[in-house]
Amino acid sequence: MSHPLAYLHDHLEEWKRDGVYQRLRILQSASAAESRFDGKEVINLASNNYLGLTTHPKLREAAIDAVKRFGVGSGAVRTISGTMTLHMQLEERIAAFKNVEACVVFQSGFAANAGTVSALLGPEDHIISDELNHASIIDGCRLSRAKIRVFPHKDAAAAEKILGELDGVAGKKLLISDGVFSMDGDIGPLPGLVEAAERHGAIMIVDDAHSSGVLGKAGRGTIDHFGLHGRVHVQVGTLSKAIGVLGGYVCGSRDLIEFLYHRARPFLFSTSHPPAVAAACLAAFDVLEREPERIQNLWDNTKYFKQGLVAAGFDTGMSETPITPVIVGEAKTAYDLSRALFEEGVLATGIGFPTVAKGKARVRTIVTATHTRDELDRALEAFRKVGHQLGIVD
Ligand SMILES: *Cc1c(COP(=O)(O)O)cnc(C)c1O
Repeated sequence: MSHPLAYLHDHLEEWKRDGVYQRLRILQSASAAESRFDGKEVINLASNNYLGLTTHPKLREAAIDAVKRFGVGSGAVRTISGTMTLHMQLEERIAAFKNVEACVVFQSGFAANAGTVSALLGPEDHIISDELNHASIIDGCRLSRAKIRVFPHKDAAAAEKILGELDGVAGKKLLISDGVFSMDGDIGPLPGLVEAAERHGAIMIVDDAHSSGVLGKAGRGTIDHFGLHGRVHVQVGTLSKAIGVLGGYVCGSRDLIEFLYHRARPFLFSTSHPPAVAAACLAAFDVLEREPERIQNLWDNTKYFKQGLVAAGFDTGMSETPITPVIVGEAKTAYDLSRALFEEGVLATGIGFPTVAKGKARVRTIVTATHTRDELDRALEAFRKVGHQLGIVD
């Protein structure tokens, strides 16, 4: 008899044949504008370290100080004995930053979405969700066992039509969208979605993972960017991207946060952050307020790099943010492009199905505030050279 897991090997062999088998690249330095991967120094266009905070001296100091004072672990889940003063300070700090009553921090953005959506809704309820929403939202929706209706990407009118069909139908309604979409770098149509939610009495959730630290005043995110304060009931964010550390959070009313303290399963059943993580995140919010030039540099670099890619003839899709995809079509082409770029000293990840739709494979680039003009010029030169060799551009 064959091994019960033999089918795994068959899958792996098939992926190798199709050229879509992915080996993990090993980061042997800090995550920074230039990093060493697999023994090679490369320009790193593959991190979410938008503001360069992963290596910021203030965050390092805060983390080291917290280790010295409080040790390396919290010892328990939040509801048993694992709520430290630092966790409460961080939640208060984020709530003030986001201009809301209260905040709850989760172990990751993934846990925040999966834990929150599944806690708020049940099988009798309805979720209206953008087709390109993040996997953690999709999992949260499935865990809730609510009825899920998916609307075409960024189509607020289609979302409103579904809400209209549900008028008078029993159950709560929840409208949910990413603020910035992680694979295309485009911004969700929040004003239209908020109005639709308000007209039909739906709960509105926005996941600002890729916009906190990037869009809005001092990086307050898409709700601030669009002037929608007070009109989005649940704001999700991450501490793992622009904030440079690890974690996720949910912002909203005091009732929402206390409800999640009692019902969100990752909060109840998974240990809280080590003190170093909470302390480094706290320091990051100080840096956001005190060093606004980081966000300015991020956008200057974004414009420069995007223009360079477009001028070279690449298809950058619908991007409006520092996430700039180079769309090539077939997954194999994306992986070939990524590998060839690496040989030229540039790390940019190839992304194919199932992370993006079939035929929409891409190499995704994210510039950061700390890339220099010289680094961006060298990266653009590599894209032009390799893109030409692979027949993607002339
Ligand atoms: C990255 C991301 C998450 C997950 O955040 P982590 O903190 O890495 O778990 C959630 N939602 C969106 C839209 C994301 O891009």
